[in-house]
Amino acid sequence: MSKRDFYEILGVNRDASDDEIKKAYRKLAMKYHPDRNPDNPSAEEKFKEAKEAYEILSDGQKRAAYDQYGHAGVDPQAGMGGGGFGGGGFADAFGGIFDEIFGGRAGGGGGGRSNVYRGADLRYNLEITLEQAAHGTETKIRIPTMEACDKCEGSGAKPGTQAKTCPTCHGAGQVRLQQGFFSIQQTCPKCHGTGRYIPDPCGSCGGTGRVKQHKTLAVKIPAGVDEGDRIRLAGEGEHGVNGGPAGDLYVQIHLKAHPVFQRDHNDLHCEMPISFTTAALGGEIEIPTLDGAASIKIPPETQTGRVFRLRGKGIKGVRSHTHGDLMCHVVVETPVNLTERQKELLRELAESSEQSETTHNPRAKSWMDKVKEFFGD
Ligand SMILES: [Zn+2]
Ligand SMILES: [Zn+2]
Repeated sequence: MSKRDFYEILGVNRDASDDEIKKAYRKLAMKYHPDRNPDNPSAEEKFKEAKEAYEILSDGQKRAAYDQYGHAGVDPQAGMGGGGFGGGGFADAFGGIFDEIFGGRAGGGGGGRSNVYRGADLRYNLEITLEQAAHGTETKIRIPTMEACDKCEGSGAKPGTQAKTCPTCHGAGQVRLQQGFFSIQQTCPKCHGTGRYIPDPCGSCGGTGRVKQHKTLAVKIPAGVDEGDRIRLAGEGEHGVNGGPAGDLYVQIHLKAHPVFQRDHNDLHCEMPISFTTAALGGEIEIPTLDGAASIKIPPETQTGRVFRLRGKGIKGVRSHTHGDLMCHVVVETPVNLTERQKELLRELAESSEQSETTHNPRAKSWMDKVKEFFGD
C-alpha cells in the first residue's frame, strides 16, 4: 500500500480551483468526522487523510511542490519549501511523520505490530519535445531523496549515545488503555510505535536518521511515448521505513506544443498553406516531416481543406508496430501586398471568368443559388 494521491482523496481534478477543493474537503470532513462516526473506526482514518490532502492542496506553494514531486515534495521529513526541522521542533516533526506512515502500513501480520512500511511512490513531471517523444531520448532528472544520515549512521541518536527501549511501552510500540469495560490497544504515544526512544537526538537529522539530499537519475524515454505516459523506475521512490521496500518513481510525460505539428495518437497533423496559383495550376511543394523534408505533388484545382496523407510519416507508438501518418491540411492563401500590375492581371482574370462562373467557381455559384432560394428571390 502506498500513499494515495491527494486529488484522488478529495475527488477533484488536478486543475480544481481553491473553491472546489474547499467544498470537496468540507463534504468529506462532515461525512467522516469522528464525532459523527463513533462506531466506524475507518472513518477517522478517512477524516485524517482528507485533512492532510486539504492542508497541502489549499496552500498554493505546497500544492505546486506536490504537483512537481508528489508526496516527497510536501513531506515534512523532506524539508521542501523551507522550514525543515528548524521551526516546528522535533516532537512536531516526529508526530507528523508517524501520522503519515500509519496511513500507508505495509501490513502488520502475526501477533506484534510490525513497523515496516513501503516507501511512497513519487511522481516527476517531465516535459519533452515532440521530436524527443518520436525518436526516444535519454535525460537526467534531479529528485529529492532521503538518505541515511552520515553523522549518526542512520540511528537518529547523537554520536556517542544510543537509542533506548521506550520506557512507556517497554519496547512493544503499543500500550493498553482501560476505557470503561474495554481494554484498548493503542500506538504508544511516547515512541509512536517504534518501541525505541532517543534521549539525545542527532543534530543533523533531528533524530529521524535520515537527511534530505538530491540524487540524479538517468531516464531512458522510449521512442513513441505520448502525453500522460508514465515510465516506472522501480525502487526509486521514497525509502521504506525500518527496512521496508522503497516506493517507485513514476516519470510522467508531458509534450511541449510543437510549432508545426499537432499530434493525435500516432498521427501528426499540420496546416499546409499553398499559394492561390499553385492551388489553381498545381505544383510541387516541400513539407517538413519528423524525418526530414518530403515533397507533395499538388494537383491542379486543389481546394482549401483538402488533406494529403503521407503514410508512415507519423509516429511509431511505444506499443504499435507501424508508424502513424502525417496529414497535411491545405489552406489556399489569398495573395497580399500586390503590385498594380498584379492587381490588373487579377482583374483581367475576373473579367474573363465572369461570363462562365459555373465553370470556374462551381461552389460559389451553387452557394449563391441556395442563398437566392433562401430569400425567396
Ligand atoms: Zn543523524
Ligand atoms: Zn513506546
